[in-house]
Amino acid sequence: MTPAAYLDHHAPDLTALLRRLVRTSTVNPPGENYDMITALLADELTRAGLKARRYTVPSALVKKTLPQEQLGFSRYNVLGKLAVRGAKKTIHFNAHYDVVPVSGMWRHGGAFSGMVDRGWIYGRGTADMKGSHAALLLALRALRATGVTPRMNVEVSFTADEETDSALGAGWLVRHAPIKPDYAIVMEGGEGNAVCCGHNGVVWLNVTVHGRAAHGSVPHKGVNALEKMAALVRALDGHKKQLARRTFAAPDGKVMRPTLNIGGIFSSGEGGKINTVPALASFSIDRRVLAVETVAAAERELRAFLAAAVRKIPQCRITARKVSHNHPTFHRPAHPFFTTMAGCVERVRSEKSVFRVSTGFNDMYFFAEELKIPTLGYGPGGDNCHAVDERASVKELVASAKIYAELLTTFAG
Ligand SMILES: [Zn+2]
Repeated sequence: MTPAAYLDHHAPDLTALLRRLVRTSTVNPPGENYDMITALLADELTRAGLKARRYTVPSALVKKTLPQEQLGFSRYNVLGKLAVRGAKKTIHFNAHYDVVPVSGMWRHGGAFSGMVDRGWIYGRGTADMKGSHAALLLALRALRATGVTPRMNVEVSFTADEETDSALGAGWLVRHAPIKPDYAIVMEGGEGNAVCCGHNGVVWLNVTVHGRAAHGSVPHKGVNALEKMAALVRALDGHKKQLARRTFAAPDGKVMRPTLNIGGIFSSGEGGKINTVPALASFSIDRRVLAVETVAAAERELRAFLAAAVRKIPQCRITARKVSHNHPTFHRPAHPFFTTMAGCVERVRSEKSVFRVSTGFNDMYFFAEELKIPTLGYGPGGDNCHAVDERASVKELVASAKIYAELLTTFAG
């Protein structure tokens, strides 16, 4: 039997594994059940024939990184290795196991049921990105069961905290774990016929506008922070227009532009009452950074724009605090690693593949820019990521597993 035939035959095993992973809810923040899911994943790697080890992130680093209220939640990363005799190169597969919090009304038995309905598995994490864990684990099982040897050494990591900032997940892994990959696949960012060869970065700022409180009956005696904020938010349209003129053409022909999203929790702080002039107002800025820009330059430019805008608004005073950033990454997909992967996608799916750059970020940056190795993004994906009724397609899960197996038996590095 070929690995592909094995995978067709064992689709129910893939589904069952994904359901188990979804039922172990790993909501981040705060980082629930990391202990349980990493134990399960390490067992599954062992079952697939890898040497697996679970690493606890040292508490000193956790203390330095996480906010106080999350310190009770330990961080773990799982690493599996398969040494192949005669193989010269090593390929690394990575997926994060944390999921975003749940809100809204879910059908299909709730967010952590893993219920299957007409070819779809429902639940938080099915698409982002526990389907990738299940697909890869089944691909490795298929190779082992059919006696087919990968042409490269294999490393697999399942890491924490991608939904916050990856510092204790993929960030910890590339800086501290005993890995030595030549190539990496982060198993999200590309799906279907699209292989991901880069992603945008972000700069997140929180802006607080400072006014002066006064009694609501004599508003002229105060400085209304909400009104100043409104003026500042309107002024930011000017920066949006500047950014819209900047373009980057991705390999699939899509023209990408930097974006600005104004959001956050609008708060007037203490004294935010109907009969009080608000002394504080705050909002957030989500600046998406193109693969051809840098996070530092984007932040500098944004802060300069804010400062200039503030100067034009009478009595406006702000503080802008950086929440976090993630770097963009992009690799021209000419390297054989990319073209071989594209060929595997085309053979398994019987359709032409494309290379895309993802507007959202993922953990590719750590491998591509910190380890400086060719890195692509590909996985089964799904619908409604970070939303209600998130789901993954059984057909796509099996196709991704076949593509991983195909790459492992095709590419020697
Ligand atoms: Zn994700």
